[in-house]
Formats: sequence, structure tokens, C-alpha cells
Amino acid sequence: MIEALRKKAEELLRSNTVNVVFGYGEGSTPERTRPVFITKPEDVNKLTWNQYCVYNLTTYLKRQETRKLGKPAIIVKGCDAKTVIVLIKESQIKREDVYILGVTCQGVGEPLAVKCKACDVHTPRIYDDLVGEKVENKELSFDERYAELDEYEKMSEKGKWEFWQKQFEKCIKCYACSNICPLCFCDRCIVEKNQPQWIDPSAHARGNLSWNVTRAYHLAGRCINCEECQRVCPADIPLNLLNKKLAKEAEKNFNYRPGYNIDDELAMSTYNAKDNQDFVK
Ligand code: SF4
Ligand code: SF4
Ligand code: SF4
Repeated sequence: MIEALRKKAEELLRSNTVNVVFGYGEGSTPERTRPVFITKPEDVNKLTWNQYCVYNLTTYLKRQETRKLGKPAIIVKGCDAKTVIVLIKESQIKREDVYILGVTCQGVGEPLAVKCKACDVHTPRIYDDLVGEKVENKELSFDERYAELDEYEKMSEKGKWEFWQKQFEKCIKCYACSNICPLCFCDRCIVEKNQPQWIDPSAHARGNLSWNVTRAYHLAGRCINCEECQRVCPADIPLNLLNKKLAKEAEKNFNYRPGYNIDDELAMSTYNAKDNQDFVK
């Protein structure tokens, strides 16, 4: 698979189909990888592929530094490919401006990432080229998709409130969660605004609650569950529980799953006069 990936990357660079390939390179230890940006065909040997390729590289589609490198080919697992669909639907990238190099994937992380236990995108749902043997994606039921919320949802309202208060107390407001998120792309985040100042910048209980709830709500109906925000959180806050809960509510209420189908209308920015809520009338 690594050789096939390198060969494809070389072809794309030699033919000037793309200017850069966003991929995974070896990390400082065998259990780590790191993002690499290959601009020369002779450097494709720096690309690797293994179970430690956890990062969602699509976050680099939004960054000015990497945008400057020209048209990218990006290596995406099935979960990462969902981000590309959302970015296209939200007009952040044009389909023709990115070459999608999909890889089939049976899971990442050691131990296996939670998202991989309920994966229905082992083969990406969008790609220009696919590396690896195509596997049929298994359709999961609504309950299977949100099984990781089972324990959480058994808690009382009071229990949930106390749980989150305790979790958010740990937040140090480092903003790693929003920086890594490929779908947090505002030029100026609400936390940086001070006129008016919506969110207290210091790390204390009240400001932390505003920040974490605001971040999660800005991703509601958009988050594709790559788990990157939770992976990078130095305070070990289970952000994915919150993201997943909002995704479940979005699907229940709008019958919408972000990143699954490029023809679907976006849940949060589609006007429908038949909406059963009065506020749209
Ligand atoms: S969720 Fe699926 S595509 Fe994504 S890393 Fe896990 S197994 Fe691979
Ligand atoms: S909120 Fe977290 S899980 Fe969702 S897309 Fe952003 S980084 Fe990925
Ligand atoms: S990464 Fe964790 S600690 Fe940092 S701002 Fe986000 S929730 Fe808070």
C-alpha cells in the first residue's frame, strides 16, 4: 500500500496535476507519524502509511501557509474524506481545487480509536483515486452509530450538568481543539473578539463553560467525528461525547449526517418554508 501511495503521488507531481501532496511521514518513534508536504517527485519516499496515521490532514486545506503551496493532493481516510465534503458544501474549497487520494482503512490508533469501532466509511465516500482494496461500507443503524453515548445518556440531567462542570473546570483555554479542527475556519474566532467580548478569555469555570459549549454548538450538524479535538486536548476532556451528542440531535431532527453525501443540503444553512418551527415564517 505504501508503494502504491508513493507511486500515485509521484505521478501526480511529475504530471503537474498537483503542486503538493499532503500525506503522512514517519514520526520520531515507530508509533508516531507526522504530516508531510511533498512538493518534489524525488521526495515521495517520505510518505508512509500505517495504523498510526491518526491525523485528519484536511485541517491543512484551510491554512494560509499550506494553501500557498498550490493545488494539493490530499491523502484521506474515509472519516477525513467527510470533512472534504463539508468544506466543499460550505464553499471553503472548490471540488476542482483539490485532488482526493483516498485510502481504505481498517482502523487507526493504539488502542483502536473509538470512531473506528463504529466505522461505516472504511472506503472513503469521495475520491479521485483510491489506494488499497475497496471494501463495502457497512450501513450501521442509528443506535449503532451513537452507541458510545449509551452510558452518558443514562445519567440524570443533574448528573450530566455536574459531569460537564467537572470536565470544563480542567480546560486551560489553550484552543488546541479549535486549531486542529478542520471545520473551525473563521478568520477571527469568537474567543478573540473583545468588542463585545462574548467569552471571558481567562480559564475559570464560567468562561470555560461558555467556550466549550460555544465551540461544540458551532460544530453542531457539521462535525464529522474525526476525534481530533479530543485527541489533542491536554486536559483529557471527552469533547467527543459532546460532539457526538449534538450530531445525534442533528440527525434526529434534520435527518442529516454531515459528509456522507455531497448532494445533501446542509442542515444549518438551508431555508425550508415547510420547517415545523415558527421562527422561519
Ligand atoms: S473511522 Fe474508519 S476510516 Fe476513519 S480511521 Fe477509523 S476505520 Fe479508518
Ligand atoms: S469538532 Fe472535533 S471531531 Fe468534530 S470535526 Fe472538529 S476536530 Fe473533528
Ligand atoms: S484543547 Fe482542551 S484544554 Fe485546550 S481549549 Fe480545548 S477543551 Fe480547553
